[in-house]
Amino acid sequence: MKLVLLGAGGFIGSNLVEYLIARAEHEVVGVDVSAEKLAGISGDNFSFVEADITDAQDLINDVIAGADVVVDLVAYANPSIYVESPLEVVELNFFENLRIAESCIRHNKRLIQYSTSEVYGKNPTSPRFVEDESELILGPVTKQRWIYAASKQVLERMLHGYGLQGDLEYTVVRPFNFVGPRFDYLVEAGTRGGPRVFAHFMSALLTGGPMYLVDGGTQRRCFTHIADANEAFTVLLDHPESINQAFNVGNPATDTSIRDLAILMKGIYADLTGDTPHNELVEISGEEFYGVGYEDTNRVPPDISKLATLGWKPRFDLETTFRDAIQYNLGQDNPSTTMGGAR
Ligand code: UDP
Repeated sequence: MKLVLLGAGGFIGSNLVEYLIARAEHEVVGVDVSAEKLAGISGDNFSFVEADITDAQDLINDVIAGADVVVDLVAYANPSIYVESPLEVVELNFFENLRIAESCIRHNKRLIQYSTSEVYGKNPTSPRFVEDESELILGPVTKQRWIYAASKQVLERMLHGYGLQGDLEYTVVRPFNFVGPRFDYLVEAGTRGGPRVFAHFMSALLTGGPMYLVDGGTQRRCFTHIADANEAFTVLLDHPESINQAFNVGNPATDTSIRDLAILMKGIYADLTGDTPHNELVEISGEEFYGVGYEDTNRVPPDISKLATLGWKPRFDLETTFRDAIQYNLGQDNPSTTMGGAR
């Protein structure tokens, strides 16, 4: 099969490309504005098209026409961007993604659309977030952080509508905090906003700066090793039962508070380097860290029984997930300092 990966140069995309090259089952065409994160990744079954999907719409349309399956990873997926540039988020994460879906409809191509666990929003009651049951509860409009979840939610609802009409075969993937090589760029000590929590804590460990605990760090996340996420992709690709369905890809066994994550990362760092980190854990409000318009989600627990029925389950625990990611960054002479978003 010929797979076209739009946003192949981002964190999820570059890992998926590497994995699909090694599996050597499919021809893979990657498209992105930048191949920076794909440096050193090559294979006979892989080719790259450098293009900005927002400009090169005819080209993207042609690439989609030549695909068997289109994988859409194009997104800004970083809370600080939702707060700073809400309109750019909706432009890319909704309108551009919708254009891709429309092109898939025109050319009769199956679409695997990466969405987000954030569509569940602030749901306070579901013990676990279940794809076709849990309420999707977002915060006020004046907390523009939710524009990301709102964009992805409307996109998912439109794909569902197209599926109902028989116009499109789609699968929605809802990632729960994937972590691995080539994640976000590292930052200067003391930086606020910017990348996601792993990159902040990793940067702090490398520089000795503070580890900020936004709103005290009591909020919880479930992190997913990127290798588990890659396997989930092929399970979904290979199972026609995944068509016109949404799937959580997450690991409930890794549930942790952000405060405990900071402590865990310090311990792993000490273990790997032999140096005891002395980073201070500093509490800071969400608005101070990200700016006005930030609001957090306190818990994001995935129910993964739907994907388990297709034969997938995550293999990596919390400690291994972060050990691998920290090890990767320690092994880099010059860890990526650029955004490399999955555009
Ligand atoms: N966070 C934190 N310190 C940081 C960066 C993030 O406490 O230096 C918190 C953030 O407020 C959120 C959680 O860590 O509650 C995960 O944030 P991230 O940006 O990684 O991803 P999210 O799951 O919110 O999309």
